Amino acid sequence: MSQNNQVQQSFLEKKRLRDQKIPHLLQQVERQPPVAAIETRTRNRDRLDDLVQYPNRLSQLALAANPPEKPQSVSPDAALQRLLEGNQRFVDGAYQNLQQSQSRFQETASAQYPFASILGCADSRVPTEIIFDQGVGDLFVIRLAGNVASQTAIGSLEFATSVLGTQLIVVVGHSDCGAVAAAVKGELLPGQIGGFLENIKPTVARVKDKTGDLKANTVIANIQYQAQKLAESSTILAGLIQAGKLKIVGGQYDLRTGKFTIVT
Ligand SMILES: [Zn+2]
Repeated sequence: MSQNNQVQQSFLEKKRLRDQKIPHLLQQVERQPPVAAIETRTRNRDRLDDLVQYPNRLSQLALAANPPEKPQSVSPDAALQRLLEGNQRFVDGAYQNLQQSQSRFQETASAQYPFASILGCADSRVPTEIIFDQGVGDLFVIRLAGNVASQTAIGSLEFATSVLGTQLIVVVGHSDCGAVAAAVKGELLPGQIGGFLENIKPTVARVKDKTGDLKANTVIANIQYQAQKLAESSTILAGLIQAGKLKIVGGQYDLRTGKFTIVT
């Protein structure tokens, strides 16, 4: 028997013995008058807390002994499908939240294998995991005002794809984006707030002569531009695309409906 198995067996045995004591501890509380029962309950509380923690400890131990194997990377199309289905559940109010349990924390504590990467806007109304109904360890997320493909963002996405193995990057812009509106107005912003403006300027120039709402047009053009910039300004990302191991798509999240729609 391996050492890990022996440790697990020993835990199982301790758990069995302690489980047997739970009814006895509870009976002690029930048999006594109220004041004494409170004292006994306080005395026993730590022991009971200890007992109820055992299943978690056991599962932590099992995971330490047998860490999850690196799963097969999820293909770009399958990853996108998973996100679109998650967004539909969000829109329908039919959340699953399967990946937010105690066991999921333990499962992902030793390694991460996200199935998609996101470059989204920092806007508080576009919380990535919530709008796609995903959980802990599912998505590698970069959020910056205006969902801009800054140098730092590109570096993080190179890591997510070439090291962690995600095969899909989604640029997530959104309706009524304040960062895009500021770029359209050409506002001068104090301090370093306007650091993103330079990254959006080329987009404004692209659509300024287009008919329709300039701000709405710029939001779409900005999503397309940032997605294009990712593919063109990183040799790592470009290489993965060429090898068929990466797709970059862009989409718009509607603040009023919660719906995410592909625009690239
Ligand atoms: Zn925004």
